[in-house]
Amino acid sequence: MMSKVWNYYAGPCMLPDEVMDEAQRDFRNFANTGMGLVEISHRSAEFDKVAKDAEALLRELLNVPSNYKIIFEQGGGRGQFAAIPMNLLSENGTADYFVTGHWSRCAYKECAEKYGNAVLHECSYQDESGVWHVDYSKMTVSENSEYCYICLNETVNGIESFTLPDTKGVPLIADMSSDIMTRPIDVSKFGAIIFGLQKNVGPSGMTITIVREDLLGKARKYCPSILDWSVLSKFDSMYNTPCTFAWYMAYLNFKWIKNLGGVEELERRNIKKSKMLYDYIDSSDFYISKIAANDRSRVNCVFTLKDESLNDEFLKLSKAKGLIGLKGHKVLGGMRASIYNAMPIEGVQILVDFLKEFAASHS
Ligand SMILES: *Cc1c(COP(=O)(O)O)cnc(C)c1O
Repeated sequence: MMSKVWNYYAGPCMLPDEVMDEAQRDFRNFANTGMGLVEISHRSAEFDKVAKDAEALLRELLNVPSNYKIIFEQGGGRGQFAAIPMNLLSENGTADYFVTGHWSRCAYKECAEKYGNAVLHECSYQDESGVWHVDYSKMTVSENSEYCYICLNETVNGIESFTLPDTKGVPLIADMSSDIMTRPIDVSKFGAIIFGLQKNVGPSGMTITIVREDLLGKARKYCPSILDWSVLSKFDSMYNTPCTFAWYMAYLNFKWIKNLGGVEELERRNIKKSKMLYDYIDSSDFYISKIAANDRSRVNCVFTLKDESLNDEFLKLSKAKGLIGLKGHKVLGGMRASIYNAMPIEGVQILVDFLKEFAASHS
């Protein structure tokens, strides 16, 4: 047996034990069919039930109104960075991108460099003391804007937005890849929400789009059918062979979330976990968070060591103790602890204990 490790990677990331155990049982004999989970046809009655139940659970957990379609697809968050303009932006239209970090900037670039008129609004800034803030109040919505784009949780930067910009009726399109189901949201405030499974609700290999019906049917002629939301929706997300494994894993995760009390309970846990970590960081003079308290991500805790020459030693020792994946994203450096839905409070306590111990032995 391997010894227990704590996985703080940003994604793919740890999944709940119950989910992993159930998937392991089904892997060789799925729903008593005598066929394995990854061997069964997406057209079989057994898989069809999983597909439909996953959608129903998602609708229930997020309270998705009936005038929204849910699409299960491939291509990841990056695929949707292209799909969004190809589905929503007309040849002469404008899209407003409210950029708060790495991923919203990537989405802006994809649109601006390939598909049309995208306007960049910088919505995060660093104050005189180097602390980052989110501010949507100064942005404007362009005259002929066809959608406004935001990323609610910037996975790389560790910045999360808890309020939405006022888009004056223009559809708001949100990337919620790393914060979906970490807290309740009002879906009716969005034109579309996109997210990959691999941060809070499953493995990599599947992306979900929740889109208001009236936004369908506007795709550009050259939009590949496989990225056209209307086509995918018409075929109940089985226009091509879907990633059955990831779809099934999403189903198990949604079931797990429902059983523990839904996204309200997850929010309670995520507040508690992140507070524990940030409270310690704020109390120490060894570690620093450069993000304003109100704008800190509850799931990606980005921090630095005051003495960055200790970075390698920190990563080496943490790994030796079974604390894995604490290195920050390459564009930012520093450290990042991702504590998504599946991370129990115990995993955060163990991390805080390690931070204390390392600080004590290196000050
Ligand atoms: C991980 C992530 C992405 C990229 O997703 P891929 O599936 O790798 O394309 C996009 N946006 C956010 C917010 C992410 O966390």
